Amino acid sequence: MTDHGDGADDVGDAGERGFETQAVRAGEEPFVRPGSAGETGDVVSPIHLASTFAMETVGEPSQEYKYSRLGNPTRNALETRLAVLDGAAYGLAFGSGTAATTCFCLSVLEPGDRVLAFDSLYGGTRVLLDDLISGFGIDVEYVDATDPENVAAAVTPETALLWMETPTNPLLKLCDIEALADLANGNDCLLAVDNTFASPYFQQPLALGADAVVYSTTKFLNGHSDSVGGAVTTDDAALAENVRHVQEYGVGAMLAPFDCYLTLRGTKTLPVRMDRHAHNTARLAAFLDEAPAVTEVHYPGLESHPQHDLAARQMDGFGGVLSFEIDGGTDEAQALLGELELFDVAVSLGSVESLIEHPASMSASYISAADRRAAGITDGLIRVPVGIERAEDLIADLQRGLEAL
Ligand SMILES: *Cc1c(COP(=O)(O)O)cnc(C)c1O
Repeated sequence: MTDHGDGADDVGDAGERGFETQAVRAGEEPFVRPGSAGETGDVVSPIHLASTFAMETVGEPSQEYKYSRLGNPTRNALETRLAVLDGAAYGLAFGSGTAATTCFCLSVLEPGDRVLAFDSLYGGTRVLLDDLISGFGIDVEYVDATDPENVAAAVTPETALLWMETPTNPLLKLCDIEALADLANGNDCLLAVDNTFASPYFQQPLALGADAVVYSTTKFLNGHSDSVGGAVTTDDAALAENVRHVQEYGVGAMLAPFDCYLTLRGTKTLPVRMDRHAHNTARLAAFLDEAPAVTEVHYPGLESHPQHDLAARQMDGFGGVLSFEIDGGTDEAQALLGELELFDVAVSLGSVESLIEHPASMSASYISAADRRAAGITDGLIRVPVGIERAEDLIADLQRGLEAL
């Protein structure tokens, strides 16, 4: 595992500056660009609420901004920061991760194309690929991407996009970004990686060869459960232009200025939060691994995780989400959740407060019981996005809950 303090994290091409510095500074430096932090020298980006910008000469905007759907200084500040953190030339901020995914897919796919997607994708992405994207005459197929050979075997000349996510939700499966990037290159198709779970601090898909990275900024990037947003980053100018065109003139799905401000604020503490999330998650994983009522723990940081070596190679930290299986089904899982005092029972993840959920009755409840079983989501599976509270408090709460079973 690479340590973030040893200079090996400059993949974010933060130039001379390290990731932690860029997380605080990029896009928000006073006086660097008009509007980004104002001529007043504000050290944080002002929230530019204007929907339109006055022209001094008719038909000739005297500044970069004309109309907020097409560009807004607060959004611009966030887009600059997100690009820099991924070592990308371009960043775009959307009204949700779902909007980012939709705009990306609509901008790179056309009728007759095929998408090959990881079979353990975020449920909402699966719904949008199946219900929306396939309606445009695009064939969507799912493959167990834990082994790149499975993906290689499924690629056809029509395959235009490999849509991947790593680690996945809720079973924390991984795919090998570098191997899939080679495969995409060799077959003239694109590789997009949903990097929401790892965040740019723990994983740099562009440096590993991906063409584009997609985020739900709702999760770790904003990190405080108070904004829904999404992002796309890429180094490819033509790709960025296409996505921007669909975003601005097609779907109109941009992140509002106030949410851009919140997300800018959230990203400043991304490195310190991620370190604490990973520390706490490792502590909880070790505790659960020893707990008699727990039959299995899914966390890439555990040596027992089948892809632990890949995680150690590909990621700079093992992330802030784990899941585990209890000896029992829905009744026992719901009883455990009911016992806990410190964990909020809620979907979503990546925030400072610890959450807990039962996928079979919550985030994966819209999938049939048979499909859930096929996907490995048992009735005894519980998912925990671990917050940044004191690890001992979290462990004590879980211990009490498990003992009450
Ligand atoms: C939450 C999430 C999404 C969807 O993002 P929204 O902001 O809720 O639209 C996509 N991918 C992953 C991995 C997620 O966790």
